[in-house]
Amino acid sequence: MPYALFDRLPPTHLQIGGGRVDVAFAPGDSAPSKERLLVWISDAARAVSAYYGRLPVERVRVLVTPAPGRGIRNGTTFGYRGAAINVTVGRDTQASDLADDWVMTHEMVHLALPGMGDEHDWLDEGIATYVEPLARSQSGQVPPRKVWADLVWGLPKGLPRPGDRGLDHTPTWGRTYWGGALFCLLADLEIRQRTANRKGLQEALRAVIEAGGNVETRWPIERILDTGDRAIGAPVLHELYDRMKAAPVAVDLDDLWRRLGVRGEGERLTLDDSAPLAAVRRAIVAGGPVAAQSAPVPEVHRLAAKPANRSK
Ligand SMILES: [Zn+2]
Repeated sequence: MPYALFDRLPPTHLQIGGGRVDVAFAPGDSAPSKERLLVWISDAARAVSAYYGRLPVERVRVLVTPAPGRGIRNGTTFGYRGAAINVTVGRDTQASDLADDWVMTHEMVHLALPGMGDEHDWLDEGIATYVEPLARSQSGQVPPRKVWADLVWGLPKGLPRPGDRGLDHTPTWGRTYWGGALFCLLADLEIRQRTANRKGLQEALRAVIEAGGNVETRWPIERILDTGDRAIGAPVLHELYDRMKAAPVAVDLDDLWRRLGVRGEGERLTLDDSAPLAAVRRAIVAGGPVAAQSAPVPEVHRLAAKPANRSK
């Protein structure tokens, strides 16, 4: 537990997204300079602040612990004595590893959700998995293509296997992280379809922190779903949870990618703006009410507007 070390180490204060990030470095040498590590942590805080509209907590303490090897070895988020993140960084970690890293942003997304019962870990990890690339994209740190490349790579691992008993009762790695992310994508799509693309999962998740929910609090899952559904104006989260909590729900991902206009995978992935749900796909990545206004007008509107303009 990092709290005892936090109390002993002098922190560096960062002011980001209307909140405070206090970073402390555990004793020991590491290849990345403290300055570079602070940039890495700031980038992650800016990413979650872009997605949630602000830093999800007033103050979070981040403890950086050096370890042998290269890369970000481990990250854990705590909430019981104030929001805190412990992250282990390999001593041979390069600047490029930090630039490509997803762990710090993933941990900071955990700041935005109240603690729940263990059987709902899939919602906590699913949101962190789903939101992390969106947050980095909305803050300009990765291209939109990366959001879809991650989902194309990961979501097949979140599909139910034989013997699956639904998200609340199948605590495997695949169902927890990617089954939870699948729930998030399906929720996002359903919210956007029911609100004519005006709202998304982002508005539901923002509503939770605006209602005072974050990692320092503990809520029943129903309260999280209720708060999100009220912000959307439709019971999307409750309905989807009722379908997926205790039963395996199969999803035709190939059909979903075709409708969203996501083709290929990895480095060769391309996005097709003529696909039926291309406008929804763009809105998910653009996010937020401000960004959504500058997003391209959906195809259906453009088609309807052209003849009218011509006749004038
Ligand atoms: Zn996590």
